[in-house]
Amino acid sequence: MRIGFIGLGNMGGPMALNLLKAGHHVTGFDLAKPLLEALAKGGGTAAPSIPAAVAAAEIVVTMLPAGPHVRQVYTGENGVLGAAKKGTLLIDSSTIDVESARAVSKAAAERGFDMLDAPVSGGVGGAAAGTLTFMVGGSEPGFARGKPVLEAMGKTIVHAGPAGNGQAAKICNNMILGINMIAVCEGFALAERLGLDWQKLFDISSKSSGQCWAMTNYCPAPGPVPAAPSNRDYQAGFTADMMLKDLKLAQQAAQAAGAATPLGAEAAALFQLLVNTGAGSKDFSAIFRMIRSAAG
Ligand code: NAD
Repeated sequence: MRIGFIGLGNMGGPMALNLLKAGHHVTGFDLAKPLLEALAKGGGTAAPSIPAAVAAAEIVVTMLPAGPHVRQVYTGENGVLGAAKKGTLLIDSSTIDVESARAVSKAAAERGFDMLDAPVSGGVGGAAAGTLTFMVGGSEPGFARGKPVLEAMGKTIVHAGPAGNGQAAKICNNMILGINMIAVCEGFALAERLGLDWQKLFDISSKSSGQCWAMTNYCPAPGPVPAAPSNRDYQAGFTADMMLKDLKLAQQAAQAAGAATPLGAEAAALFQLLVNTGAGSKDFSAIFRMIRSAAG
């Protein structure tokens, strides 16, 4: 297929390369020139503008930082909606607020385009390996058209419902993860104070009712899970900045929807404190250091 790809950063760059490897033709655009050069080196075509990247595309994929960028790239002057040809399927894989996702999808529909919000989990490693999980919002026919292309970049592709539901799934999942991570940190910090060895707590709790992904796959205390960032000075991984971004999106959505998320709000506040210490680029599990050092 002919694919226009906007946003060739840490995630978008390797995703576009996987589309090329699967035999698609990719024409890409990014504001950063070196990223365009990397795409061309990988066999893609570097475009000088958004209209040039999407004019001949059958599918457009975007991977941008946040809601305002997505609104601008689609609905702004020289944006995707003014330049893509009729019938082009639009897929935004950025993590953005539900409201922006639904607004851009509505603007796209008004111009006759089918649009999917398809945020991912799996991080830069998953983007490079083509093993991302895509959570997809949008119409059934749009999902059926987009799925084969998403399969070139990911392993698990789930249709979560109508427009915006992909973003809703992403922020609900990451709010659960952020809260879980703090809970595991508190448990391991308390164990230390009580003279209970981290490995012993892990051996017991990972097989008991306290078990969760944040503990068994990503233990924030060094030792029990050798591949976890806690064993390499909390090198990311998934950064504290990104966790904070997703927790703020969850709070924004909860307020708009009138949902009660008291622990989500507390998690956002604690990750904000962590980021304020200058640890934003560390892995999000580095919140263990803050919780551990806060003990009296
Ligand atoms: P990034 O900053 O590396 O890449 C974003 C790219 O968008 C940049 O290269 C930037 O130049 C480009 N861009 C911004 N405005 C543009 C415009 N108007 N026209 C063209 N290009 C433009 O970010 P990333 O890490 O690749 O993340 C992208 C999205 O994926 C974010 O929404 C993020 O939350 C989400 N995400 C990231 C990860 C991760 O581990 N990095 C994991 C899951 C989801």
